[in-house]
Amino acid sequence: MTQTPSLQVTPQPGIMEIALYEAGSATLSGRSDVLKLSSNENPFGPSEKAREAVAHAAQAMHRYPSTDHARLRAAIGEVHGLDPDRIICGVGSDEIIHFLCQCYAGPGTEVLFTEHGFSMYRISALAAGATPVEAPERERTTDIDALIAATTPATRLVFVANPNNPTGTMIETAELERLALAVPQAVLVIDAAYAEYVSADFDGGAELATRLPNVVMTRTFSKIYGLGGLRVGWGYGPRPIIDVLNRIRGPFNLSNVALEGAEAAVLDRAHVDHARAENARMRDWLAGALTRHGVPSDPSHANFILARFADEETAAACDAALREDGIIVRRVGGYGLPECLRITVGDEAACRRVAQVVGRFMAAR
Ligand SMILES: *Cc1c(COP(=O)(O)O)cnc(C)c1O
Repeated sequence: MTQTPSLQVTPQPGIMEIALYEAGSATLSGRSDVLKLSSNENPFGPSEKAREAVAHAAQAMHRYPSTDHARLRAAIGEVHGLDPDRIICGVGSDEIIHFLCQCYAGPGTEVLFTEHGFSMYRISALAAGATPVEAPERERTTDIDALIAATTPATRLVFVANPNNPTGTMIETAELERLALAVPQAVLVIDAAYAEYVSADFDGGAELATRLPNVVMTRTFSKIYGLGGLRVGWGYGPRPIIDVLNRIRGPFNLSNVALEGAEAAVLDRAHVDHARAENARMRDWLAGALTRHGVPSDPSHANFILARFADEETAAACDAALREDGIIVRRVGGYGLPECLRITVGDEAACRRVAQVVGRFMAAR
């Protein structure tokens, strides 16, 4: 009788240290009227023009997509006033983050980010075999001096989300420039996933990425464009860096459906303007309502609010009360913020529902 052989292959160093990414939950058992406010999705959904483009592109699913993404890059370049030759498109900005780590980090190097930084930075650093390093924040805000102090000669990448997720806070672009100049041995990646929510004229760090040799900006179609399910993001930076990233990009990483949907979405500026204006109005309203109920939050520049409670137990109890009412928000203990709940800014009805439940919860304490 032969014995079944056992697996003798082990994964590369770092891989087993990766904790699986936890996505915002989407369902509550026994409920059909769930209000999902856990993944910072656009409550108005995608542009009608994007829906039409996706339906149209689906007719040609038997054709391989473009490999150079020329039309999408041209559309992004036109809308943002950027050189399309310095743009790379990926399967969400997650893939751009991944390309950066694969190309610039590896065993013996360090990837730096902040205490409450986005979890993909750690995952992608470990996947590349690099050492993730965390710098402290100051009052839930990126601290450039702490980041500079945490750099070493082995630092290859520094990730800063601005505005940051899950805190919603942001720092001045001049501060990011100070960081980039202080770490010439590394690439500063400005993750601008929420840039469109800041203001119509905020460039997300594009000007810095145009001028400095070691700055890359990443953007996404998953947030204000309402296309999280389509998976499209992009990066913009110095030509030599974009050329490096393109070497490991799969030739057909984006489907023709994704490419055409994103192109239509970026050209529909009215949809973005509407989402930005409604978000700002309801974000102010929700922050004010929660504050009146005794739940403070830092000024948010994104499409969510980080509601702060007295302690972890109170945050957990409020989360349970919200779930009881069919509302799913995000626990952020994994981000070092166990006493907080991240609540996506929904439409007006959604915000009123949240404020009502939180108000009832706090009054009963
Ligand atoms: C949502 C988010 C992204 C976007 O990820 P995609 O892969 O483009 O969907 C990137 N960075 C941060 C900080 C985010 O919150």
